[in-house]
Amino acid sequence: MNICNWFKAIFVCMVLQSLVPPALSQEAVAAPDPQIAAALQQVSAERIQSNIAKLVSFQTRSTLSAQDPASIAASRGIGAARDWLKSEFERYSTDCGGCLEVKTDSFTENPTARIPSPTQITNVYAILKGTDPENTKRIVLVTGHYDSRDSDTLNVTDAAPGANDDGSGTAVSLECARVLSKLKFPATIVFLTVAGEEQGLNGSSHFAKMAKSAGWNIEAVLNNDIVGGDRSPQQNPAVVRVFSEGVPVSATEAELRIIRNLGGESDSSSRELARYVAEAARVYASSVKPMLVFRLDRYLRGGDHYSFNQEGYAAVRFTEFRENFDHQHQNIRTGNGIEFGDLPKFVNYDYVASVARLNAATLASLASSPAPPARVRIETKKLGNDSTLVWDASPGGRAQGYELLWRNTSGADWENVQSLGNITQFTSPLSKDNVIFAVRAVDRAGHRSLAIVPSPER
Ligand SMILES: [Zn+2]
Repeated sequence: MNICNWFKAIFVCMVLQSLVPPALSQEAVAAPDPQIAAALQQVSAERIQSNIAKLVSFQTRSTLSAQDPASIAASRGIGAARDWLKSEFERYSTDCGGCLEVKTDSFTENPTARIPSPTQITNVYAILKGTDPENTKRIVLVTGHYDSRDSDTLNVTDAAPGANDDGSGTAVSLECARVLSKLKFPATIVFLTVAGEEQGLNGSSHFAKMAKSAGWNIEAVLNNDIVGGDRSPQQNPAVVRVFSEGVPVSATEAELRIIRNLGGESDSSSRELARYVAEAARVYASSVKPMLVFRLDRYLRGGDHYSFNQEGYAAVRFTEFRENFDHQHQNIRTGNGIEFGDLPKFVNYDYVASVARLNAATLASLASSPAPPARVRIETKKLGNDSTLVWDASPGGRAQGYELLWRNTSGADWENVQSLGNITQFTSPLSKDNVIFAVRAVDRAGHRSLAIVPSPER
């Protein structure tokens, strides 16, 4: 936001705050960061198309497929795909003066139902380190899985192009890395591509556990899986679904009790992240609209975001509006006039680019924002019709003020926002029994943190 817009925003705030109730529409205060908006323009459908074509060219990226030097030299199998991803991240790093740290997370998975013998699984990732020493340990992460499969999860030689599932998500992670590595952010962004998804989320599970045990402060995980916008007539190319868990799988018994008693089913950190995606789409006028789906995932399906949820991290899943099941997990064939197989020709590359822009807008906004306020509490010492919220200042020194958000308990997204200035306690005349509150931090340029719903404090 330039200085003029900032003053305009303050003026609009003052005028609107003089009204009763003291509520603002989110649209009234949000303005895009011009640097982020310019970066989004650099996302290229052509480049996404060539990256997906490259991934498909490895014939199969089954996690169980070849990783030996001869196969890699012949550009066949998951080993070749892994090495190419690494070289691609390294190329982006060269283009930004070595700004990315390119790494692999490699381990041997023991046999399971879908892994017949001990198998090496390798996640490939690039780190764009935050430039603010006080905020560099805050991490936002985007991921897609680069492994693929055909009709048989155990087949390791036949074609498994995986153009949509999940060449598209892998391409989103790559393109976010290419475009955002041209900018600098106070917090850190990790661009991840994992393997083993089709065998049982093995790669993401290992990575999330590694992050947890290393004490990584991951604020947000964006998992892109099947974001190719399959070109079937029933597709809606203007919509991407964003799935988020309600009751956190990692919640303790004490946390579950609070959720049950106070109606916290729709305020997990993942759900707040989904709402943040919706706001980023409004701020940056996303050409693809996020449809927030209030469930962990689709029926009978899972994804890598769940590995992060299990470790207590906020994580959501992006998936195209309508999947075409003839075009995923299928051998390439024709039967009854239907073409089966996950082929590049079914992918809508403009759609993938739009989804990549929405991911990049969310990542860049979060990596620019102050840390969320800490220990947000709502006082419940005595009965009363007003509501006092107390919080610890956003750590890291970037917050210039705070905003109070609220909605009706039956509301899906935040309905009201009130600027509070640089304070850490506020009493609203609204009853905490009737609405759901949250607090977020705002920096000088208007970047917003994730919203934090208060815990009851006696
Ligand atoms: Zn997938």
